[in-house]
Amino acid sequence: MTEFLVKYGEISLKGANRMAFEKRLMRNIARRLPRGAARVRRTWGRVFLAVEDAHADEAARILAASFGVVSYARVARFAKTEAAFPQAADFLAGELAAGRGQSSFKIEASREDKQFSLDSYGIACLLGDLLRARLPGITVDVRRPDATVRVEVRDHIYVYAGQHRGPGGLPVGCSGRGLLLLSGGIDSPVAGYLMGGRGLAVDAVYFHAYPFTSAEAEQKVQQLAAALRRFLPALTLYVVPFTAVQVRIKELARAAEITLLSRCAMMSIASKLAARHRHECLVTGESLAQVASQTVPSLHLTGGYATVPVLRPLIGHAKESIIDIARRIGTFEISTLPYPDCCTLFAPRHPMINPVVAELRHSFERLDLEDLLDESVAGTATPAPTVG
Ligand code: ATP
Ligand code: MG
Repeated sequence: MTEFLVKYGEISLKGANRMAFEKRLMRNIARRLPRGAARVRRTWGRVFLAVEDAHADEAARILAASFGVVSYARVARFAKTEAAFPQAADFLAGELAAGRGQSSFKIEASREDKQFSLDSYGIACLLGDLLRARLPGITVDVRRPDATVRVEVRDHIYVYAGQHRGPGGLPVGCSGRGLLLLSGGIDSPVAGYLMGGRGLAVDAVYFHAYPFTSAEAEQKVQQLAAALRRFLPALTLYVVPFTAVQVRIKELARAAEITLLSRCAMMSIASKLAARHRHECLVTGESLAQVASQTVPSLHLTGGYATVPVLRPLIGHAKESIIDIARRIGTFEISTLPYPDCCTLFAPRHPMINPVVAELRHSFERLDLEDLLDESVAGTATPAPTVG
């Protein structure tokens, strides 16, 4: 068996919230590993995950992508006696040797059990000597070590080195369920990721206007959904047939109003889907003033067609910071594949920046879309996840 020690938590969590957080985190981790292959337990503000060795690499990948995990490390546990330290040093020497380019280390020892024969300093000295004997050339550097070795004396002696960072935040599911409007662009996947990190269980909806938008455009969104599933493993992608709505708008609306009116239709359809599938909010990748359809009056207009709250986690983000996150979570390369989505194809040359909300609402009513919106909802598909 391989055991991982998992550190988690937000400082603000207290009482019942903390319990819910811990239980959700444990459940989320266990669910992602094959049934029976993993055991998760919790003590002293730590979660321990024990997995069969064959699943150790997979478990590490899962911890690295589980919201709520602040850090994790492979840990070894020994009987609480001084005689265990040579064995502990063997384990740690292996861990340090595995991390490349580590020529110095320091030891952080903590002793919860004050009855133990050695104090923290004594533990550090003993273990330091044992490690140096096993790793010729390695030195102790307490200021800027390449590696930090940690020892905790509790019910057992726990030792670990090489903590890896998790994504932090709150475990998925502890803040309810949301429906992300996922286009092929850079922003919306990042928006979904950020809300996942606040504990929202995220599904996604894509509005597809075939044949005006290619099958490749849908493939791209499928790929984005797959990339998001690394962090949101239960994400379902809904693909909405949007062609009829888009055509009606194109035929009847003034060119400058097209983008905004199609956003209104998307909000309306997404709200209907949310009601059907018990999502409590919508999530979009909108960022204030990034494009004409994202000014305050535009958001007022389009948001008015939602019947649940609309969360816009990127509203105050500059594009560069959004791109940074997109690169980090592996969606940027997919988002920048060159397939047009329906919005770029239908985008007017001079979109409206400052809609008069009442006028645009009137334009939307004149489109008489209600039946088409319902047909879009009825025709919504959930294509099987593609791998990759
Ligand atoms: P993105 O990079 O996410 O595409 P964007 O800057 O291109 O965003 P817009 O095209 O104005 O912005 O879209 C604003 C938001 O509306 C998107 O972030 C997304 O949430 C939603 N959206 C736009 N087009 C679609 C679509 N075809 N399917 C689903 N959601 C969409
Ligand atoms: Mg877009």
